[in-house]
Amino acid sequence: MTLGHEFGAGAACLKCKDKCEGFELHFWRKICRNCKCGLTEHNVQMNSEENKKVGKLFEDTKYTGLIAKLKKDGLPSYKGNMVTITLPIPKDVPMTSVTYEWAPPVANKYLAVRYIQLLPAEKRPVAGTEGAAYRRQQMACQLPEHDQDPSKCHELTPAEVKLMQQFVRKYKDEALGVADVMLPEEMALIQAQGQGGAGGAGVGATVSCRQCQQPMGRGEPAVYAERAGYDKLWHPACFVCCTCNELLVDMIYFWKKGKLYCGRHYGDSEKPRCGGCDELIFSNEYTQAEGQNWHLKHFCCFDCDCILAGETYVMENDKPVCKPCYMKNYAAKCASCQKEVEPEAQRVSYGDHHWHAEPECFKCSGCSKCLTGQRFMAVKAFLFCSVECKKKIIT
Ligand SMILES: [Zn+2]
Ligand SMILES: [Zn+2]
Ligand SMILES: [Zn+2]
Ligand SMILES: [Zn+2]
Ligand SMILES: [Zn+2]
Ligand SMILES: [Zn+2]
Ligand SMILES: [Zn+2]
Ligand SMILES: [Zn+2]
Repeated sequence: MTLGHEFGAGAACLKCKDKCEGFELHFWRKICRNCKCGLTEHNVQMNSEENKKVGKLFEDTKYTGLIAKLKKDGLPSYKGNMVTITLPIPKDVPMTSVTYEWAPPVANKYLAVRYIQLLPAEKRPVAGTEGAAYRRQQMACQLPEHDQDPSKCHELTPAEVKLMQQFVRKYKDEALGVADVMLPEEMALIQAQGQGGAGGAGVGATVSCRQCQQPMGRGEPAVYAERAGYDKLWHPACFVCCTCNELLVDMIYFWKKGKLYCGRHYGDSEKPRCGGCDELIFSNEYTQAEGQNWHLKHFCCFDCDCILAGETYVMENDKPVCKPCYMKNYAAKCASCQKEVEPEAQRVSYGDHHWHAEPECFKCSGCSKCLTGQRFMAVKAFLFCSVECKKKIIT
């Protein structure tokens, strides 16, 4: 089993900066052991790995034209489609060329450039810009390797491997596709020819975008998805996942019941996903807690990985933690006795201060009267039953 522990090792976390000592993959969560952020939050250059992943995704599909067999190790790899385009410019301006980390693989370069211009500026995959980083991040997020390759999953049983292989086969046959970019008038011509009708019939009829319902511009590139049928088309910026609304990375889509999905959200629409390891769950036995699904062995403390089934746990930042870790790392201190307040204990909170809701702790700092159910004044960490008691302590 390879979880690729070495991959990305030591990369700095872009979010935590100095607080993370460098990326170190947790042994089954798909996150960093040091800072608990994902791989995409770290400064990892993942092109060759990502290209292999996409290559494998399209292996044994009708889209194999996108991948090339690498002679060296026999692993299929995605050709990507990095292009450098020199734009025609006025005489007195120096030549400018732009490298796109990806552009639609169409013969007409101007169509490819226009497609990219129609994307939001911060999402254009221009090398060295935030748009290129956005594409790489979406590549990791939308197409999780562990949704397509059982060897990237944590300790699957042979039965789970078999179910996963069937699932992958099914989406490759029924849902997965790569879109095309074409001019609507070009497509109308092709369709008219295909139907044996007079060439040019239907050209000029305005068609609207399947996503925004606005008309498509004449002479502007439109996105077509074979699985959806060539009668449907999208503006480049409208070719998005119905769940996350992000641009479908490299126009790789999953089509199901009239909707476009990214790989991750297609998977989520078919199977429960484990909140611990981020893998789809192929076992009948799993647990639901806190609005999420979990492999039984993965409903664990986020800090120490102890199994939480049947144990007291506390949700901290939407992650479950065991009681000992909660007491050590998160519990609020009682302003009166200075001890941590247990997660199950009754407490009173006021501003940033907390007290055990017990007569020994939640009491007047002046006369020690229990304040449960009483009117009280709070001054910093002190509690008072009356102005008189307050005067005794604070002058
Ligand atoms: Zn981090
Ligand atoms: Zn980290
Ligand atoms: Zn649109
Ligand atoms: Zn999505
Ligand atoms: Zn899991
Ligand atoms: Zn713990
Ligand atoms: Zn206390
Ligand atoms: Zn008092």
